[in-house]
Amino acid sequence: MSARGVEGVGIHSGRRGRVRLHRDDGRLRFRLGRHEVPADADAVVSTKRCTALGADGACVATVEHLLAALRVAGFWTGVVVEVEGPELPILDGSAGPWRDAVAGLGEPPPTPVPWRPSAALHFRHGPTRVRLEPGAERLTASIAYAHRAIGAQRWSGAPECFDGLLDARTFATRGEVEALRAAGGLLGAAEGRGIVFDDDGPAAPLRWPDEPVRHKALDALGDLVLFGRPLAGDLSIERGSHAAHVAFMLMLRSRADVERDGAPP
Ligand SMILES: [Zn+2]
Repeated sequence: MSARGVEGVGIHSGRRGRVRLHRDDGRLRFRLGRHEVPADADAVVSTKRCTALGADGACVATVEHLLAALRVAGFWTGVVVEVEGPELPILDGSAGPWRDAVAGLGEPPPTPVPWRPSAALHFRHGPTRVRLEPGAERLTASIAYAHRAIGAQRWSGAPECFDGLLDARTFATRGEVEALRAAGGLLGAAEGRGIVFDDDGPAAPLRWPDEPVRHKALDALGDLVLFGRPLAGDLSIERGSHAAHVAFMLMLRSRADVERDGAPP
């Protein structure tokens, strides 16, 4: 990351943003002007098309890709993300550029104590199904799109495979893009900021045939950082969404057996 930080346009707002990453003791957090917002499920203020955090009237959107890159590098704590602008830059639609920025932070602090489920947990939120079972840490994501160029896809991997998710780009169908733009959204959408699927296939070459589900797994990795500590189990998410990820974390926290003593202060 240059001294000027990472700069770019937010996909939803169309506004320019600049991000600088700093090492600092304590929990992972965002600095928005004079406000600090913890990277925590309790600070989520919106899950519409992205995950947004806020406090005291200050808000930052599209935090999930940077959070995924921080997590893959081992940063659950010890970083302040200073943001100018309402939204993190979308860059190329993946977390690859964030991996490069995070690489300048050095060695991460010790990982917080993971939470391990003692029995299988099942959770539903709208069309999303989440299952967390005792066992070695693993993430499985699956999607099912009516769009024939996307269709049904599944990705599954252990933590050592998570780095391979970071270059997967966000995606939308042409119909979704047009509907969102008609509704006044997606103001930062442009070629090179994610994948658009036309009726007959992607408008530009994919990095992997299953790039869409890899991106969904990346979104889940990023969102789940907001739990504050790893979920050390076999986690499966079908038709995931930012709203479902956040609802799942809040449900876990409401359980008597989920202590927060592994979470950063
Ligand atoms: Zn995403």
